[in-house]
Amino acid sequence: MIPQETVERIRESVDLVALVGEHVKLRRMGGDWRGPCPFHGGKNPNFSVSTRRNFYHCFKCGESGDAFSFLQKHLGMDWPTAVRTLGQRVGIEIIETRGARDGDRKDPREPLWALLGTAVQLFRDALWSDAGREAQSYLAGRGLDQAACDRFSLGFAPADPKWLRDKCRALGYTDQQLLEAGLLVQREDEHEPRVRFRNRVIFPIHDATGHPVGFGGRLLGPGEPKYLNSSDAPHFRKGELLYGLHWAKQSIRKDERALVVEGYMDVIRCHLAGITHAVAGLGTALTEQQAVLLARYTTDVWLFYDSDEAGQICRHARSRRHRTGDRAGARSVRTPTPAPRAQGLVRRSRQGATSDRQAHADHPRHRRWHDARALRIAPRGGGGGRCRHDRA
Ligand SMILES: [Zn+2]
Repeated sequence: MIPQETVERIRESVDLVALVGEHVKLRRMGGDWRGPCPFHGGKNPNFSVSTRRNFYHCFKCGESGDAFSFLQKHLGMDWPTAVRTLGQRVGIEIIETRGARDGDRKDPREPLWALLGTAVQLFRDALWSDAGREAQSYLAGRGLDQAACDRFSLGFAPADPKWLRDKCRALGYTDQQLLEAGLLVQREDEHEPRVRFRNRVIFPIHDATGHPVGFGGRLLGPGEPKYLNSSDAPHFRKGELLYGLHWAKQSIRKDERALVVEGYMDVIRCHLAGITHAVAGLGTALTEQQAVLLARYTTDVWLFYDSDEAGQICRHARSRRHRTGDRAGARSVRTPTPAPRAQGLVRRSRQGATSDRQAHADHPRHRRWHDARALRIAPRGGGGGRCRHDRA
């Protein structure tokens, strides 16, 4: 357990404006600071940060809290991680008292997460260095300014094959650690290990708790493969992770619904447009484990995929229920026919729909599948988990 007294000391020491300012463009207004709200994704300065009270509040959507809740809600960290992160930031040592709950005990994966977190920061710095010019303009071309890139910790892996290795060595990391973290790869026919990501825009991938566990890299310029992920490892199993879940999980719980979109950029576009319950698979077909993972947060899953994918998640949910007799699993999976891309939804949202619900309701095609429930798994006992695919 982290002592309450330590928590209070950290809360008082954190500069909330500086912390929030790393994610939101804030301007001084009177005694407070104002900016666009990162929670509902508005454009107007409705989001206020008070230095005196160390408290933030959005006058539009009502989100409010302190430094800890900002990290929890905005970055998807769990409570102990948020306290430790801020403790480190202000240099307050956290001495945990005995009788710790399981979740508070030190995790053996922590050194790995620390290294991957360092890599996230190095990639982020590289994006805004001279070497990152082309990556910057690529992202700008896709509508992402610096604030947006910072919010999703986007970075850049320079083409220089020695860059990451040298940086990490200077920080005291060994090749062995970099290999284990999947940042270096060793080929059998080569003496030296080589860096996995070169000349790529980097999308850090986190687990549901917000620990960095791997990366997706989008190649700049010609070549193959266009998208490359960290390779599978004990800490990074593509089939068991969902991109964006740590950002989306609060909204998924609140809205009791999840959206699964196709790619990293789709997730980012959705979140920037205020559709904050969007996640994506990691470049592979959705797996049963991913369906189970989502089912921890909601049983109402909407897919913005082509129908093949939708059919697949449906099969997963059905087979799980048959095999285990478990009630958990994606109970209701819907897809429009034909599937509109996430972008259509985003556009609707930008055109003045104040919420995702409204964006859904306003979109003529969405309204149809609200009624039609295009694809649906019948609840247990009411059809034996049969999968139906109605035409909207
Ligand atoms: Zn708000």
